[in-house]
This record gives sequence, structure tokens and C-alpha cells, in this order.
Amino acid sequence: MTATRVAVLLPYPFDRAFDYALPDGMNVAPGQIVTVPLGKRMVPGVVWDAPADSSVPDHRLKPVAAVLETPAFPDTLRQFIDWVANYTMAPRGEVLALGLKANLLDPPPDRYGWVAGAATPTTKRREAVLAALAALDRPDTAALAAAAAVSPGIIRAMADAGLLRPARRDQGAAKLDPDAAPPILSPDQTGAADALRTSIAAATFSVTLLEGVTGSGKTEIYCEAIAQCLRQNRQALVLLPEIALSAQFTARLAARFGAAPTLWHSALSPTARRANWHAIATGTAQLVLGARSALFLPFTDLGAIIVDEEHEAAYKQEDGVIYHARDMAVVRARLSGAGCILASATPSLESSINAEAGRYRHITLTARHGGAAMPRIETLDLRATPPERGKFLAPPLIEALAANLAGGGQSMLFLNRRGYAPLTLCRACGHRLNCPNCTAWLVEHRAHTSLLCHHCGHTERQPTLCPSCSAEHSFVPIGPGVERIAEEVADLFPAARRIVMASDVMTTPDQAAAAIRAIVAHEIDIIIGTQMIAKAWHFPDLTLVGVVDADLGLGGGDLRAGERSAQLLHQVAGRAGRAALPGRVLLQSYTPDHPVMRALCSGDLASFRTAEAALREPGHWPPFGRLAALIVSADLHDVADQAANALARTAPRSDVIVLGPAPAPFAMLRGRHRRRLLLRAPRGIALQPVIRDWLVRADVPGAARIDIDIDPISF
Ligand code: ADP
Ligand code: ZN
Repeated sequence: MTATRVAVLLPYPFDRAFDYALPDGMNVAPGQIVTVPLGKRMVPGVVWDAPADSSVPDHRLKPVAAVLETPAFPDTLRQFIDWVANYTMAPRGEVLALGLKANLLDPPPDRYGWVAGAATPTTKRREAVLAALAALDRPDTAALAAAAAVSPGIIRAMADAGLLRPARRDQGAAKLDPDAAPPILSPDQTGAADALRTSIAAATFSVTLLEGVTGSGKTEIYCEAIAQCLRQNRQALVLLPEIALSAQFTARLAARFGAAPTLWHSALSPTARRANWHAIATGTAQLVLGARSALFLPFTDLGAIIVDEEHEAAYKQEDGVIYHARDMAVVRARLSGAGCILASATPSLESSINAEAGRYRHITLTARHGGAAMPRIETLDLRATPPERGKFLAPPLIEALAANLAGGGQSMLFLNRRGYAPLTLCRACGHRLNCPNCTAWLVEHRAHTSLLCHHCGHTERQPTLCPSCSAEHSFVPIGPGVERIAEEVADLFPAARRIVMASDVMTTPDQAAAAIRAIVAHEIDIIIGTQMIAKAWHFPDLTLVGVVDADLGLGGGDLRAGERSAQLLHQVAGRAGRAALPGRVLLQSYTPDHPVMRALCSGDLASFRTAEAALREPGHWPPFGRLAALIVSADLHDVADQAANALARTAPRSDVIVLGPAPAPFAMLRGRHRRRLLLRAPRGIALQPVIRDWLVRADVPGAARIDIDIDPISF
């Protein structure tokens, strides 16, 4: 008799699904989650598609161990995983791992509990668990393990063996009400909201670029799209680039819909993750607020995806599966028949071009809500009025801070650099302290009394003797980080209430939420922060923004530097004067005539984008052509070079241009030597098959690793 085979995809870096035998009497459908043996372990997997590998004879197939009662992966999610794997060239199992984690599969304690399964126990310990179970009312894993005095692992193993199964309980999640607290929209806003509502009501795939100046009410308007989605009983997903600061958003959505959204980000407790995952998989979660990984959740019926601050580079995941969440959100929406809304005050060149070409709908809002004026943005020429020696705030900025403070206003200083000083140098010989593992200087962090590598996390204490010239206590900090600016502010305005906001000093969402509350309540006079404060926060009393180093993002020879810098600075400037009080923004710069500074001051970002586009179009640079980066890395310098040269010698095809090899940005990272090759082609050519073929033909040493980055964001 021949065995019935099923193909099961496992959440490990294998590209294909493996065949398993289906025991008699067991039935599965695609998408169901099963446990199967892999080597000596039992692992979860998802029944994928038709059996894959008929070359394995029946008698060598291992059997499926159990079918979990966890909700199955919806077809749309399986299609999405296949699509992402194919596009990013990551192994399919690695993409699956973004959506399937073993610890999600236990029943969530607040919704399910364990009941006895059909199988009979074979060990004393397992008997003890069943005895304990009989005395309890559907206990969760922890309670059952405690009652039977066994480890939670035993409970899971028993579930896998069919001795325990999860029971469903009544689910009492708070319902969201689309009409709980709708705003009264201005005429402009009404037009925009109607257009969005119509596209969601159509229940088909569409993409809309929602472009509106900061404070124009984009959030209010996309909430109308969410409301429409809720009325149609479909789920909605809002993606945020910086989830650490999601508290303000959660509160806003809860106020609008009468109940809180379901959260999805890495700082959730394991119990909350599991509960939320199950609520999403069973369709009880109607609105999800999450980070990019939320795209891999098992939504039952997704009707809308909103990508807030769509231009943000934080949407690009740079390790493991390398993907851009904004682009993948569009794909997820297409596969789900959902409306995708990309919201930004400073859209990416990609999205602008797509809107211009008519591939996306385009809705624009040009005025702030409630008559609030746009902030006045001026450059402060550091060549004319330099800061004092060893200081970083120029006199006109100090005067503005003093005046704002005296008038009871709140101010913000922005510097996109964590720590105290970006560079530490020996005063005697000029020796610089760099990371032993990376091509990077060590950054002094006084808050942690250490030197830190921002790339690999290497830390060390500042040496008393210079390793190069043996001078004693000779190291001096060069340049500012936010901690050093905070020190300068403390010297200038000792009575002002200050706060530093940077990811290394605000590590949990709770800390960040408390800081935001203090700022909104005006318990803080001067906020000093990195890009963490650039995001969509609404601080009503903030009237002055000083950008300490507006030139910072422009160096580095990256073609996208101008675009990114303009977006970030515009975003920062947009924090000022959002309520009744007018705002003022001062950009400290040595290059006040740079096109980025001019565009910011005139507010004419559209012309700036046109100029950027003109720069990129002739060479087929993105978004006018296709680009992929291959990072070749190895422990040994020579191996990395050999591998990169082997690729360079084997040209892929004539219409694809290979640039490099060159040292990758960070020629050494975490102890590995890295080279980069860029592939560029006209829009009509898909680079993935070209790369596959190229890697097969080129004779790359096995000791080298190749990471493929399709659509790299720096070039
Ligand atoms: P954006 O997302 O474009 O920056 P928001 O949606 O955050 O703008 O709106 C800015 C501020 O104006 C928020 O405090 C918001 O609640 C308020 N606001 C916008 N539109 C309205 C409206 N129609 N009625 C009441 N408040 C509004
Ligand atoms: Zn390092």
C-alpha cells in the first residue's frame, strides 16, 4: 500500500517543503499546522502544497506526529510567504519563520485551556498530568504544569502526542465600534476620507498614496478607512516604523473606536503575543497596530493595510530575510483583495513616481487642520555665527532657546546621533579608537560610562594609556552626540527641565510612553533627541525646533542621501507649532545653499523630488530601474576578495550592469570582511533569475557567504 504524502514547510532555512507520511485516519488540509519529526526533534510546520519530493521512497518517510488545533494558515498568507521568498530570494522556510514561532502555538491562557486528548499515557509523569487535569477546569500550560509538578515542556510534548488537546472558550474581546467617536472633518478632509472609504468599500485591491503636510489630519482620515473596513467585518492593519512609541497611537485609536487595537511588536510578553496571534487567527482581532513583522500574521480577512510614514527607512529589514515592509504591504494587500494606504508628509520617490504614473491613487492635503500654520523654517549659517569652541549650539539658536523658555514655550533639539561623542581621539598622537570587529569608530556613551560600537555592540572602557603612543589620559571626545548636547543645555539653562530621547536610553515602550506623557503635559522644557523624536508625535506646546547638525545626513556619497535627509528634517520640523501656537525651526548648517536646505526652507519638496528624479532617471537608478546588492562576506580577507572577484569575472548578461566589487558599507562588520557588488538593470528585467543563474555559473568559494539584498535602500 502506498502512503499518503503531505508536503510540510518547516520554519527553518530550507527552501522547500519536505514530504511526510500521513498516518491512517489522520486528515489534513493545506495551511494546517502540524508537528513532525526533524532529526531527533519534534518541530512545527505548515502543510504546504502538493507533495514535493517523490524521490524519497515510502518506507523512508517519517509520519506526521499530530495536527494542531491551532487555526490554519490562510491561503493568502501561504501565497504571501511564497511570494516574499521568491522575490527576496530567501529560503521559503526562513520566510515562514517570520510568521510561525513554536511558542505561538500553545493555546493562549485567557482563551483556551487544556482538556484530555484521545491517546493513552505511557509514562508515570504523563499519568500524573492527566490526574491533575481531571481536578482542574481547563487549566493553561503553566497552571497544569505546576499542579502536576512537571515542566511546561512535558505539557507541550503531551499535546504533540495527542494526550492533551486545547479547548475553546468563549471569546470576549472588546468589539471596536466604527462610529464610536468620529471627528468632524473639514471640507478638504471630507473629500479625502470619502475617496478612501470608497476604495475600501470596493473590497478589491488598490493602493492610495495619502500625502499631507504634518498636522493635516492624515491619521484622522485613514481612521475613516479603518471604520469602513470594520463595518464590512474585515480586519485592518496599521504599520508603524517605530513601535517603541506606539502608546500615543494606541490611545488615539482606542479613543476613536471605543476599544484598543491589538498590538504586534517585539516588546510584547510571550503571553500577550500568543493571545494576540490567536485573536488575529480566529478573526476576533479587528484592528492590529504593529511593526513590519505584522505582515506575516494569519489574518482571516484583511481589508485594509495602512503604512504610516511610508518613506521611513526603518521599514527595511536588513538581517535575515531582507525585505521592505512598505513594498511587501502592497503585495499582501493585492493577495488579500485589500486596500493599501501609504501615508506620509514626505513620500518616498518610489511612491511619488508610482502615483504620478497612475499606478497608485493620489490624495493630497495641503493645509494643517484647524488653521495651525506651518512652521517657519530658517537656516542658521554656522560659517557666519559659529558656536563657541568645543560647543555645538550657535548663539542665534541659544538666544531663540532662551526667549522660548522665558515665554513658557517648549523646545526640541534634534541630533541624529546617540551617545556622547562619535569619535574619541588621542590628543597626543591622533590615534582613534575603533571597533576591533567593524569598520567603525567607537562611540562614547557617558550614560553607560563606556565606549560602544553601534554596529556589533562591542563595548570597552576608555583606556587610561593610549595604545599607540602611551600618553596618559590623553583621549578627548570629538564631535557631539545627544548626551553632549544635553550637557551643553544643562550648562546654559540649569533650571530648564530636560529629557534625552534616544533608543539606548529609552529601551522599553513603557519608558518611552512615560516620556511622551511628560512632554505632552509640558513637564519638560527642552527635549534633546535622535530620530526617535522625529516620528509622528503630537506635542501641542512645542514651538521651537533646533536641528544641531542639518548637514549630517548629506555625506557618504549615497545617491539617496539627499532624499533621506530632506524627509527626516522635514519630519522633525513638522513637530513644531502643531496646535494654536506658531512654530519656528532653525537648521544649523555649513551648507545653507544646499538644495535640501533650500527645499526645506521654501517648503517646496515637490520641486526637490523632481530634481532628484532627474538625477536618477538617466542611469536607471531606483525607482527608474532595478537594483540588487550582493554582499559577499568571509572570515578571511582573501576569501571575501576571491569570491567577489569570481562573481565579477562571470558577467550575468549584457543588459545587466555589475558595479564593484567594492568594500561594502562597513568593509568589516562583526568580524567578517565584506565586499559589495551592485546589479542594475532597466525596470523590465527581473533580477532574481539573473542572480540565480549567475550564482550557479560563478565559481564562488564555499567559505564565503552571499547575502542578497533586492532593492537596497543605500546605493
Ligand atoms: P497628521 O497625521 O497628518 O500629522 P493628525 O491626524 O495627527 O495629522 O492631525 C493633527 C492634529 O489635528 C491631531 O491632534 C488631530 O487629532 C487633529 N485633527 C485633525 N483633523 C481633525 C478634525 N477633523 N477634527 C478634530 N481634530 C482634528
Ligand atoms: Zn563593532
